Amino acid sequence: MHETTEYIHLFDDAVRALFSDAVRITLRDPSVAAFFVRMRRSQRAAERRRALLAEEGAHVPPFMIISVTGRCNLSCAGCYAQVQQRQEEPDMTPTELLSVVQQGHDLGVGIMLLAGGEPLARADDLLTIAREVPDVMFPVFTNGTLLDEPLVRRIRRQRNVVPVISLEGHAAETDARRGEGVAGQAQAAIARMRRAGIFFGTSLTVTRLNIDTVLDEKYLGSLLDVGCRLFFFVEYVPVHEGTESLVLDGAQRARLATAVASLQKRLPGLFIAFPGDEEALGGCLAAGRGFIHISPSGRVEPCPFAPYSDASVRDVPLRDALASPLLMAIRDNHDKLTETSGGCALWSQREWVWSLIVDVDEADAT
Ligand code: SF4
Repeated sequence: MHETTEYIHLFDDAVRALFSDAVRITLRDPSVAAFFVRMRRSQRAAERRRALLAEEGAHVPPFMIISVTGRCNLSCAGCYAQVQQRQEEPDMTPTELLSVVQQGHDLGVGIMLLAGGEPLARADDLLTIAREVPDVMFPVFTNGTLLDEPLVRRIRRQRNVVPVISLEGHAAETDARRGEGVAGQAQAAIARMRRAGIFFGTSLTVTRLNIDTVLDEKYLGSLLDVGCRLFFFVEYVPVHEGTESLVLDGAQRARLATAVASLQKRLPGLFIAFPGDEEALGGCLAAGRGFIHISPSGRVEPCPFAPYSDASVRDVPLRDALASPLLMAIRDNHDKLTETSGGCALWSQREWVWSLIVDVDEADAT
């Protein structure tokens, strides 16, 4: 089923609104506000590049999620990066990583979320690359334990790098999942970033058990008080068999969407739900509709929670990988992915996604 492009305009509107809000909430710090004014212009230019390519029939998402390494200094309970058996392939080299980032920029991808493993295990590479491509925003999803004073000082000089510290709620909840003392290390990192005047955020994994905590305005207010200005609410995806009971139910998903919209209007921060209100955007945004995922070894995948791929940026240009048979098949059948209960439509449809891989391999074999 060929879909309308209406959702693309809605998505572009959301990205534009996000950067206008970023300017609004940082006016008290003119240098940060000025940065977001420039970045808002860069995002509009990226949007124009995407629109030009769309006229040529090439679909480019506004976001990319790049897992820059599988390595991590922690071993959190339920870590999706560690449970997914990706092929043991070496991480992309700094040159390969810079190339995929530059290709993405040239195609019109304006925001590249850096994840892992622990992405700051490659801080030198990431800061060098972010300096080379200043028009792209790099939220870095980190456990915060490597954010020492020297690294904080370096990030201070690169506003397009935004540390996003993963938390589970209060210190006890964070330590319970991430390990004794991790919450304390994250708080110390937050204090350093605040002293340095860095724009930073947090990523909160939302489960059936902690939704009351992470939506509690006293809790969110305490994070705003320590300088946090960006809040990602990431719905739990049961990549670990037997953890389905942690997934938000329909009422909780609706509550999350309503709460995020209300917080955005009232509090001096940026509040983003992931995957967010997919229904409003016609269903699952994976496979390039809204974003794609690139694994540590360069495999182009529909989503971080769907480790399936038929193309690698080590073998083909990013533009070709975005049009791979697997990604196209998922995009062309996205009506199968409008049912978004259970945290991740692709995860709940993994048998079907796997069948597409088999089809692609058989097609290649003939
Ligand atoms: S910090 Fe992230 S990548 Fe590392 S173990 Fe924890 S959840 Fe996994």
